[in-house]
Amino acid sequence: MKKDQLLTRRRALIAGAAALGAAGTAGALALGGGEEPVRRTPAPAPAAGPKPHSAPASSAYRLQPLTGYGGPPRAAPAKLPVRHEPFLRMPGRGRTIVLTFDDGPDPRYTPHILDTLAEYEVRATFFVCGEMADWNRDLLSRMADEGHVVGNHTWSHPLLTRLRRSKIRSEMERTSDVIEKAYGERPQWFRAPYGAWNRAAFQLGAELGMEPLAWTVDTLDWTTPGTRSIVHRVEDGAAPGVVVLSHDAGGNRSQTVRALRTWLPHLLDSGYHITVPRRRHA
Ligand SMILES: [Zn+2]
Repeated sequence: MKKDQLLTRRRALIAGAAALGAAGTAGALALGGGEEPVRRTPAPAPAAGPKPHSAPASSAYRLQPLTGYGGPPRAAPAKLPVRHEPFLRMPGRGRTIVLTFDDGPDPRYTPHILDTLAEYEVRATFFVCGEMADWNRDLLSRMADEGHVVGNHTWSHPLLTRLRRSKIRSEMERTSDVIEKAYGERPQWFRAPYGAWNRAAFQLGAELGMEPLAWTVDTLDWTTPGTRSIVHRVEDGAAPGVVVLSHDAGGNRSQTVRALRTWLPHLLDSGYHITVPRRRHA
């Protein structure tokens, strides 16, 4: 039953992407091939001037398919506000916690994490890097099937504060493109590598339809401090609205995999509800 719901969701995502593709490719099909997907960045404004068959703006907007991403491709996208700092917490009702896994997916670790999450019927958020996602598209597809959220963690995990704006844009944009292909929809969340944010990252994130999400509790699993240490950090840091940071790639993550098998059931036994981030605007 649960599985059916998830599969239904997956189908809905694919259907949404297909509808979006149909709308987005109009006028670009002359390029042919059909292999090269059309870029659907929200940035280009709709062509100025009258269009054939155009209905009044308001009703045309309403007729666009619902895609679950930043906005319909041919109407002006709903602009996200440009933040000055990332969200650090994600308060919900009661004892809710958001779990995030960064830098993957990695076929050595991510499947084990997904197995544990599935065992406890818990949904998490994966901030993937484009260069990892690109050769592990099956794992993004599995994340979609199993109801997880996928966020954008840049293509190659650079320190954004040292990059030109155009390079930051391509790091973010390429990653959103590969996520859309493999997962079925464009990401709604962005996380800067190393938590190093700058103005360009906030501006470009908003332009690409993504809200910035940082974290509250760092498990420091990337320092491989030992499984017990990771377990303690999560259990000591647990509180309503907390966002937990772990890593499913970027090094040996077997401690992360093992720790999750311990701390996840503990949190659930303590009455925590694991949730995924929700956008605060409509
Ligand atoms: Zn990272």
